[in-house]
Amino acid sequence: STSDIDTIKTQNTTCPYCGVGCGVKATIKNNKLVAVEGRQDHPANQGRLCVKGSSLHETANLQNRLLSPKINGQTRTWHEALQHVADGFKQIIAEHGPNSVAFYLSGQLLTEDYYVANKLAKGFLGTANIDTNSRLCMASAVVAHKRAFGADAVPGTYEDIDSTDAVFFVGSNAAYAHPIVFQRINKAKQERDIKIVVIDPRRTATCDIADLHLPLKPGTDAYFYNGLLTFLVDQDYLDKTFIAQHTQGFAQSIAAARQQAPDIATVANICDLPEADVRAAYEIFANNSKVVSLFSQGINQSSSGVDKGNAIINCHLATGKIGREGAAPFSITGQPNAMGGREVGGLANQLAAHMSFNDSDIDRLATFWQASNMARQEGLKAVDLFDAIDRGQVKAVWIMGTNPVVSMPNADKVKRALQKCQLVVVSDCNDNTDTGNLADVLLPASTWGEKSGTVTNSDRTISRQQPFFAAPGEAKNDWQIICDFAKYMGFEQAFDFNHPYQIFAEHAALSGYQRQQSYNRAFDISYFANISQAEYENLKPVQWPVNQANPQGSRRLFSDGQFYTANGKAQFVPITARLPSEQARPNEFVMNTGRIRDQWHTMARTGKVARLLTHIAEPFVQINPQDAARLNIAENDLVECQNQGSTYLGRARLTEDQRVGDVFIPMHWNDAFAAHSRVGALVLDNVDPLCGQPEFKHSPARVRKFEVN
Ligand code: SF4
Repeated sequence: STSDIDTIKTQNTTCPYCGVGCGVKATIKNNKLVAVEGRQDHPANQGRLCVKGSSLHETANLQNRLLSPKINGQTRTWHEALQHVADGFKQIIAEHGPNSVAFYLSGQLLTEDYYVANKLAKGFLGTANIDTNSRLCMASAVVAHKRAFGADAVPGTYEDIDSTDAVFFVGSNAAYAHPIVFQRINKAKQERDIKIVVIDPRRTATCDIADLHLPLKPGTDAYFYNGLLTFLVDQDYLDKTFIAQHTQGFAQSIAAARQQAPDIATVANICDLPEADVRAAYEIFANNSKVVSLFSQGINQSSSGVDKGNAIINCHLATGKIGREGAAPFSITGQPNAMGGREVGGLANQLAAHMSFNDSDIDRLATFWQASNMARQEGLKAVDLFDAIDRGQVKAVWIMGTNPVVSMPNADKVKRALQKCQLVVVSDCNDNTDTGNLADVLLPASTWGEKSGTVTNSDRTISRQQPFFAAPGEAKNDWQIICDFAKYMGFEQAFDFNHPYQIFAEHAALSGYQRQQSYNRAFDISYFANISQAEYENLKPVQWPVNQANPQGSRRLFSDGQFYTANGKAQFVPITARLPSEQARPNEFVMNTGRIRDQWHTMARTGKVARLLTHIAEPFVQINPQDAARLNIAENDLVECQNQGSTYLGRARLTEDQRVGDVFIPMHWNDAFAAHSRVGALVLDNVDPLCGQPEFKHSPARVRKFEVN
């Protein structure tokens, strides 16, 4: 009917799930989201969507929305709630100093949300105790990039995976975790028979298209890559011109590599792999001039994740496989805005616009912000932050859009810490999360389809997220909540934003300001410093840097051989590989955690779609049949896993995909679904000393059949 036609509209936006950052066209009919499809004009997905993205319309109008502010479970007005939080923060800061308060953010937040929260904490409250769940997913890659390239910059672009001749998936189950990247690679495989190598202790769905799967001993990746560097030297596969002109530190790196991994036999022995397979993988890397190494959580979530990242990058630098079409070391991030958060200093040890905690950057930012109380020291990283809450050193914490009681390592400790914390504020769209249930103050936040702002995906593409609904009840955008709170704290002027375009413009202006003032940094979107609201609304996907020299953005970095280090040369990093910080004892298993295909994070959204629960409906424990037989465990038996006093229960899934001695457990389930289903409680909170990222891929666990007594 005419009236139906009149009320149909479409809106371009981006998917809120993974770091691929697919463009979505939403169709809204009678104020209901009725369909989603992939945007043909978005460079990340070119029309495709995976099962999670294509079910987005089924997650709109979620149940359990938090509709109004609450204090101790009682509904209150925004004024009462923000006054209460401001009074609490002011009193705690007055009594115990600014580092007694903290914020914990999320890679789901938009760049504008992240920017104002960081501006408030670091510039005006005087604390850098503001970290993010992105610490759990890509902090290792950030430091690896900085060490090698002089800046946290991903060199490649998704187009490189279409045109490459060989893909190495390292610690990446892209088939589940980054499905559209995987589909693009699968297409290249079908069309051009490119070589695919998967390096992962587990045989995953990604191996379905692999020429070679190397199920290496968990945690030995850096030995494998040190061995590759030795092989490239010994077999004369180096790009000597590139090494001489564009890099430094090669001699020290090869010396370190050779010491631990002098030959293929040694590598095969350490990594517990057949020698022939190691050689075959090395030859694929060496013999193809276009190689993309996609690395993800299997590399990053490690107590030596930074070194693993640099071990991979070293091999690309040694062969000049960088800055060219189809050739790149490529970190793919878990979350939709992990990279956008980094741009605005979303980590406790960063400042906005890729600046650091040195005196000149601190002063530069203080001047730009006219900051009244600039933090001058790095803040606490995620694990340390919750430890400080546990010790009573941090007395007030504001958690935005994330569920650390489920997702943090040693999650029962996190839960205890929040239970005894003096003031816990949670802003979320959902009124029933494991973390929100521990809050003193709950603040209703808007969610996907209601929020307006930008995100940056894994290949530096900035895209708009657009609203097509009004937020229900009294829910507000996160940036708005923070700006309102800032006013209650007495910082009216610096947070006088009425629309996210103004925040984006300030962020863009800052990126140009810091760049003029200091050496050649990577992050620069100064082209948008004077963006109008209309231009912002129509912003097309664009890859940073975007400045006067590159107004269309920058697809690939380092094509000119110039890196962001002081002398423009990329840095080889000598790697002394280390095994995971805690090995399993003889009666224990090595416990690995990760994603399944159809769920996202702690299931707050995807867990409510019946269709997405048909793939895998229950928590499980993946175990090798030999181990299962030894423990008298049959398929579908309930299995009990224990570590550090906490218990996880799941159904046994017997599979040869799992190495003997290892188990795999999904990260998604939580107490809202079933008791003892938070695997985070069993994960050790050991971290990489260089970046603070926890070792989610390697904890010991005792495993047995669950017997009902
Ligand atoms: Fe969304 Fe990631 Fe799937 Fe793309 S690949 S549709 S961004 S979940």
